[in-house]
Amino acid sequence: REWYLAAYAAEGIPTSDHLKLRTVVVDIDSIPDGHVALETLFISVDPYMRTRLTGLQDGISLHQFQLNQVINGFGAGRVIRSNDSNYKEGDVVLSPFSPVAEYCVIPSGFLRKLDPTNGIPLLDYFNTLGPPGFAAWLGIEVLGDPKPGSNVFISAASGAVGLCAGQLAKIRGCRVIGSTGTDEKVKLIKEKFGYDDGFNYNKETDLDAALSKYFPNGIDVYLDNVGGKMLEAVLNHVNLHARIPLCGMISQYNKVWTEREGVRNLLNLVGKEVKMEGFIISSYLDRFEDFAKQMESYLKDGKIKSKNKINFGIERLLDSLASLFSSSNIGKVVIQVKA
Ligand code: NDP
Repeated sequence: REWYLAAYAAEGIPTSDHLKLRTVVVDIDSIPDGHVALETLFISVDPYMRTRLTGLQDGISLHQFQLNQVINGFGAGRVIRSNDSNYKEGDVVLSPFSPVAEYCVIPSGFLRKLDPTNGIPLLDYFNTLGPPGFAAWLGIEVLGDPKPGSNVFISAASGAVGLCAGQLAKIRGCRVIGSTGTDEKVKLIKEKFGYDDGFNYNKETDLDAALSKYFPNGIDVYLDNVGGKMLEAVLNHVNLHARIPLCGMISQYNKVWTEREGVRNLLNLVGKEVKMEGFIISSYLDRFEDFAKQMESYLKDGKIKSKNKINFGIERLLDSLASLFSSSNIGKVVIQVKA
C-alpha cells in the first residue's frame, strides 16, 4: 500500500480528499541498476510535508508532490533486493525521499547505510541525530549562538525541534523558556527536558503580557518554529543585537498566502539591530558532520534526551499529519510501518 496525492490542499488540514491509500504491485524481481527494493520500517511525519501538498510554489512550499504520484518523506527501510553492490539484503538504510509506502524500489544514490553495531537506536536518526536535531543545532549552535546567561525563547517547545533546541541552549548555560499548546506539555518541557520555564499560549493568550512576564530582561535569541502572532509579539521584547533564527512558521502552513498573518513590529529589528534569518537544513549539509559528532557525544554522555510518538501502521498518515497542527503530538511523530 502507498499514499498518493489525489488533490492539492491549498488550505486547512489535509484529509482523505487529498491523500489516499492504494494498493500497487511492486516488482522486486527486475529492479534497475543502481536501485534497491526496500521494506519500509519507519516514516517520519513532518510539518514540511504539509507545505508540499499545496500545489503552490511559495515560502517553503518549493517542491510540490505530483498529483496521482506516491508522496515521500524521511524514512528507514530494510533492503530486500539490491541491484547496487554497495547494498545487500538485510541492510538498514535511511532515505530523505522514502516513498510513503510499505514496499518500494528506489535509486540508491540518496541512501545512507546504517552501522548495526554502533548501538544507536534507529529512531535517534529521526529525532536528535536526524532532521529535527540538525535544525535545532543550526538554530542554536550556529545561527542563534547564545552566550552563557542569554535569555532564549523557543516556540513549539515540546516538538521534535523544540525539545532538542531547549536542551542545547541549556548546555550553553542559557535561561530557556518555551511556549507550547497545553499545560501537560509545559510541565513536560520543564520537568523532563530542562526548560527553566514555559507557558501555554492557548491559556496565556496575551502574548505580549506573557513575554513581559517570562522575559523581564528581554530576549536575546528566539528560535521561531511558529511565526504569526508569536513572532510579532517577540519583536517587542528583543534585546540589542538579538538573533532570530527562523526555523519554521507552522501557524501559517494551513493558510493560503492572502490569509497569512502579517508581522508588525519589524521596526524593532532596525533600532535593536536584530539579525533575523531563515534557514533550511539541506543548505547546511557541509555542517552535518560537525552536528553529528557533537550530538552523538551529547547522547553518549546523557546530556540530550528525546521523545518519540510512534503510530503503528501505514494507514496512520492522515491522523499523524493532523496531530502536528492540533497540539496533540509530543516529540517526534513517526509511523512504524513494519515491526
Ligand atoms: P513539532 O513536532 O513541533 O510539531 C509541530 C508543533 O507545532 C505542534 O505539536 C504544535 O505544538 C505546534 N503548532 C501547530 N500549529 C500551531 C499554531 N497554529 N500555532 C502555534 N504552534 C502550533 O514539529 P517539528 O519540531 O518537527 O518542527 C517544528 C518547526 O520546525 C516547524 O515549523 C517545521 O516546519 C520546522 N522545521 C524546519 C526545518 C528547517 O530546515 N528549517 C527542519 C525541521 C523542522 P504546540 O501547539 O503544542 O506547541
